[in-house]
Amino acid sequence: MLSSLPTVIIGAGPTGLAAAAHLHEYDERFLILEKGSHAGSNIQEWSHVQLFSPWEYNIDRAAKRLLQETEWEEPVSDQLPTGGELVKEYLEPFAALPSIRTNIVYHAEVKAITKKNIDKVKSDSREAAAFILFVNINGSIKKIEAKAIIDATGTWNSPNPPFADGVWRTEELINKLHVNIPNIKEEADRFKNKHIAVIGSGHSALNSLIELTDLKAAFPDTKISWIIRKQHISETFGGEENDELAARGSLGSKAHQLVDNGLLHIHSGFYVDEIKEQDNSFVIQSSDGISINGIDEVIVNTGARPDFSFLKELRLDIDPTVESTKELAPLIDPNLHSCGTVRPHGEKELRHPEAGFYIAGVKSYGRAPTFLMATGYEQVRSITAYIAGNMEESAKIKLKLPQTGVCKAREVPKQLQIIEVNAGDSCGKTSCCC
Ligand SMILES: Cc1cc2nc3c(=O)[nH]c(=O)nc-3n(C[C@H](O)[C@H](O)[C@H](O)COP(=O)(O)OP(=O)(O)OC[C@H]3O[C@@H](n4cnc5c(N)ncnc54)[C@H](O)[C@@H]3O)c2cc1C
Repeated sequence: MLSSLPTVIIGAGPTGLAAAAHLHEYDERFLILEKGSHAGSNIQEWSHVQLFSPWEYNIDRAAKRLLQETEWEEPVSDQLPTGGELVKEYLEPFAALPSIRTNIVYHAEVKAITKKNIDKVKSDSREAAAFILFVNINGSIKKIEAKAIIDATGTWNSPNPPFADGVWRTEELINKLHVNIPNIKEEADRFKNKHIAVIGSGHSALNSLIELTDLKAAFPDTKISWIIRKQHISETFGGEENDELAARGSLGSKAHQLVDNGLLHIHSGFYVDEIKEQDNSFVIQSSDGISINGIDEVIVNTGARPDFSFLKELRLDIDPTVESTKELAPLIDPNLHSCGTVRPHGEKELRHPEAGFYIAGVKSYGRAPTFLMATGYEQVRSITAYIAGNMEESAKIKLKLPQTGVCKAREVPKQLQIIEVNAGDSCGKTSCCC
């Protein structure tokens, strides 16, 4: 019977583990499939980067309740962890709890999902059929049945290309660029006294630029070119001192300072068209014929996008622009939404035509860049309540999110707010851009 099957959570990142905590509290069966060797595998790849949100926002409330039953030492709420500390001090201890550990399979990569004996076209008895996951576990494909699925696989493994048209050129080129956030301190020999181009204008790019200018202080021949599509460099600084996450604001302020101090070669309004190798270096060309020559290393910090390749047999409702669900898209579409603050949303906004299937966490935002872990925790609180049959809790959205301070629509209040609305309400009183 369908009801006796577990809910399968794909991915043991912060969102997937939070979903497990909530399902455990509801006494619901669950199984986590994680392709890496430990919890937080994606975050471990940027373990040296300091988060801009303090611990207060980084720990799911249900996970915290479970950890508090043990001797776990809770991190200080207003401190900022690095990615590595987030894994070591929260995700790993949580994943090691006996009630969680016994329900995680590591080295388990989900390759395809379908419904039992039913392909995408067939509608009869579809909702009553179990999900079937095809999972590569240590090299062999196993079939696993589920009553519901929460896809919390993130986007880290599908980086956006540096090209303005959004299309990757060759596999060979990807391998020659840095499509992650390199640990500049650890890899100093590779970057010192070189010409480095950073492409992108989000927080990851600001992180890379700040680390590179630290390196330049010790190795003054280091040359840093910053390439952005935005016409004016001031558009990249975000809310600065108006951001309620001080560390997020200060990333923008620091970048502002670096620009004012003339430490960066700025190429704004630059639409990258080609990256070519020439005489052991790279040439970056814009679509209007401008070239930047003699680049030794290229750091591509242009964000990431969701991978839907293993979801082809499922009936999805994907917004053509943002690649979130259609209902969520207007709340987060960077074309429409002038600020990073997103009004509360949960199960209803994340539903797909395939009943019982959800995408949660950073992948739920598709290509929109404003996701916060706290948003993912709220998403899975609502989704798991629905799976457990608690419709009232599922519809009641409780969100505590700091504002970004970059809204243009109206003045942003200074204090943090707890917004409580029902999922059907149009907008939390205090959120902007509604
Ligand atoms: C550099 C950086 C800094 C950030 N700083 C902050 C911050 O300060 N505050 C904040 O709130 N947010 C921050 N974010 C955004 C976001 O909160 C994080 O990206 C967070 O890790 C998202 O959590 P997630 O669980 O949705 O996805 P992930 O952490 O990416 O976890 C996905 C998991 O799924 C696994 N997986 C992937 N594919 C498969 C598959 N097919 N089968 C099985 N397993 C699979 C992966 O191995 C991984 O463990 C930051 C993001 C980045 C990149």
